[in-house]
Formats: sequence, C-alpha cells, structure tokens
Amino acid sequence: MTELCTLDLLYFDGVENEEGQIRPIFIPNSCHVCKAMRHESEPSSEIKLLSCSGCRMIAYCGLAHQKEHWAQHKDFCKVVQQVLRKEGRPSLFSDVSKLNLSPESWKAFRYNLMVRVEKSLTRPMQPYEQEMFLYPRVCDQCRMDDGTKLNECSGCHSFFYCCDQHQSKSHEEWCKDLKLLLDLNIEQSKKGRIDCMLPHKLLDSFEEFPPSLKEFLVLRMVGAMGAFAMGRNSLTLLTEFASYPLTVLWGLQEAAKLTDGIPLLGDRKSLVVHIVGAELPFECNNLAKWDVFFLNTLPALKSLYITFTGPELTGVPSGTWDDDLRCPHCERNNKHFICDFQPNTFYHDFVKSKNYIRPDVVVAFNCGLYRQTGFQGSDSWAKTLPCLLKEGVPLILTAYTAAEAPLDLKRLQDASSREPLEILMPPQKNPYRSSRPCRNFVSEVESPIIFKNQYITVVRKKCAK
Ligand SMILES: [Zn+2]
Ligand SMILES: [Zn+2]
Ligand SMILES: [Zn+2]
Ligand SMILES: [Zn+2]
Repeated sequence: MTELCTLDLLYFDGVENEEGQIRPIFIPNSCHVCKAMRHESEPSSEIKLLSCSGCRMIAYCGLAHQKEHWAQHKDFCKVVQQVLRKEGRPSLFSDVSKLNLSPESWKAFRYNLMVRVEKSLTRPMQPYEQEMFLYPRVCDQCRMDDGTKLNECSGCHSFFYCCDQHQSKSHEEWCKDLKLLLDLNIEQSKKGRIDCMLPHKLLDSFEEFPPSLKEFLVLRMVGAMGAFAMGRNSLTLLTEFASYPLTVLWGLQEAAKLTDGIPLLGDRKSLVVHIVGAELPFECNNLAKWDVFFLNTLPALKSLYITFTGPELTGVPSGTWDDDLRCPHCERNNKHFICDFQPNTFYHDFVKSKNYIRPDVVVAFNCGLYRQTGFQGSDSWAKTLPCLLKEGVPLILTAYTAAEAPLDLKRLQDASSREPLEILMPPQKNPYRSSRPCRNFVSEVESPIIFKNQYITVVRKKCAK
C-alpha cells in the first residue's frame, strides 16, 4: 500500500495553520460554522443539523450558516456531486457497507476517494476537507452512512455505530482521548488558539524526575491550584510543550542510572543538546520551554546550548541567539541559554561544519527513522544515521506508536552493524509523552489516536575501552 506514504504528513494533524492560527476543523456531527453539536444521545439538547444536500458530507445548524460557508464550499461540493452523478450514488459512502472491506482496504478506499476529488478541484484541498474523507460519520464496523440510523457514543460524541452489535468494545480504550480531542477542537474553533503560560517556577533543589509528566508538572511546577485555574484544555496543551524538554531530561536521567560514563542529571553544569530533524511548529515553538524546563529545574545547570538542525526547519535565520531568549530567573542567576539554528541543514552536513560542538545528547523527536520517504519523498535519514552516534553520547529517539519504535531502532542497528549499540532504554512507553491527542490515519488500525513522543528509546555507541 505504497500510495499511503504520501500521507505521512497527516500524522501531524496540526490544527494550527502557518500563521499559528487555528485552521477550520471538520467535526462530523456539528455545524461547520459555529460548531453547535447534535447529540443523538441527548435528544433534549437537540439542535437540528442540515446536511449539505449537494455533497452530503458537511452539516450546518441552519440556512444562515450554510450560506455563510457556501463561497468556500461551492467548488468542492460541485466536484463531489459530479462523482455522485457519474456513479449514480446518493452519497460517497452509500455502498461501502456492502463491500465488506478489510480495515486496510477501507483506509485505501477513503484515501483514493479523497485523491480523486482533489484531482478535480482546481485548488489544493483544505485540511478540513481531507478530514471529511478520512474521518467520516459512518458505522465503525459496517461503514453504513445513513445518518438517521446511526448512534453515537455518549462519552466522546466522536464514535458512530448502527446497532448494538456494531458498538465495539475496543472503543473504550480511545473514548476518553477522543472526547478530549473534541473538546480541544471545539474550544479552539470557537475561541481561537488556547493560550497556555509556561510555568515560571524556579526549583532550588534537585529532585529526581518522577515517572509521570503530569505529576512533575502539576506537583512541582504549576501547583494544584495553578493547574485548576488553567483548566484541562490549557493544561493538555502545556503537556505538549513540556514533553519535548522533559523527555530529554528523563531519558538522560534514566540513562545515567543504567551505565557508567553518563553524568548524573543533578550534577550537570552544562549541557549541549543537538536536536535533529527539528521543525518550527514542534521543537522550536515557544523556545522558552527549553529554558524553563532545563535551567529552572536543574539548580546546578549553568549553561544550556541547543542546536536545531533539519531540512524542514525553515523560516528562521541561521545562527545563534546568545542569552537573548533567556528568562528573568536565568538572567538574575547568570545562567546561559544559547539557541543555535541551522535551518535547511541536514545533520550529516552540520557535523562537518565549523559550528559543530560535541553534544552531550542527541535527540530526534517523532523521527520515523525507519521510513524511507522522509524529507520530500527521499530517504534523507540514510546519510544521517551514522552521524547520530558519537562514541559514548546518548541518542534519544521518540516515536508515535508501539510498532514504529522498534523499527526505528532496527534501522539504527542495521546502520551500525559493525559496532553494536548499547541499548540503554529499549523502546517503551514514554511517561513524558504529550497528553494532547492527535488523530492517526496512517496506522489507525493499530492506534486511531497518537501522541507526540509516545514511545522512547535511548541508545549509545559503546566507548572503546
Ligand atoms: Zn452554525
Ligand atoms: Zn456540499
Ligand atoms: Zn454497522
Ligand atoms: Zn466514545
């Protein structure tokens, strides 16, 4: 199923557009304009939603909102109508239940349908329009799409089934995350991007990081009252910021416990961190998160030097920011925070440049090392793999799913087969993963919801004795 590789981008499920604003999001049982919802499970609170009679793929709370959206929806709707006329079907998914598709074929069916419609559009399809194909309102089991006969899960309002037999038990595992995702999407659609302040607490003694991001964040950094005041949605977004720096710290802490030659985290006076395959919206959004979670939590740490490299890192000038970005605590305590940007640069080119400083740790977040279609469809990791492992320097990798993490490790091992790797932490669930749910189309059968940094692996090249 090679054509699905082009869908790698959908892994990221970003709801922010390039300007950092919230883009339109498709929520199947809500009005596309105002996000008012129809809850079959709560008939008392019912609002009537009208499906667009042209394409039957999008709904509105009334004519006013349908009219408001028509200018943007018109060309898409016409293209879908052409397909329907040609095939003599009332809706795009009307016959799917008869096809008895396997989960993989169902995935391909939606993807191919999307591509077909996109080809007839004279503009790129918007992400919310892609979502109309990828996450339609159909029965989870038989894909039946008759809206009048579909039930929805009363827990998450994001899961649909035609009859009790088709209400799968396995849904329980994802129900809470789907609800959280819905709440985030609705709040952000209505009010715009949710703000979340980084904690400004300075820890004056070193304590081991507990095996839980929420515990560390709530008990040590924000405080229970602070967390309560933030609310669940803001706190969830804060876990995503915090997950990047804290995953590095947790990985380093655990690695130091397991092997000689890696200094204990609490004793570190300086740290040089290389972030490989960095991207502006992820590793580099809100740069203060690196300062706040490294320099403000490690009392002994005086200097933090972070280099961001990657072909997909664009829109930042190359070079260093010496202390310009540090927080007031660090300024007062004479702690140094240096950010070094190497945009449009592969790590294997960076290691040969004059800007290279030997790192204390190398990190690749949500890296997909195993994928041979990385940057612009080419196998960009092949050249980088040997450069990720400097003798004795720990390498931290994170992955989205349980299936991907071992594949990343395997590729790394294959690339350094002559010098076996020391596996400090085999692929495992990362207690410092983000709590912000993202939909996952690419490997939805394994896990329909994924989180940034969900799995962690730590390795290093053995030191020559
Ligand atoms: Zn509306
Ligand atoms: Zn329509
Ligand atoms: Zn069904
Ligand atoms: Zn549910």
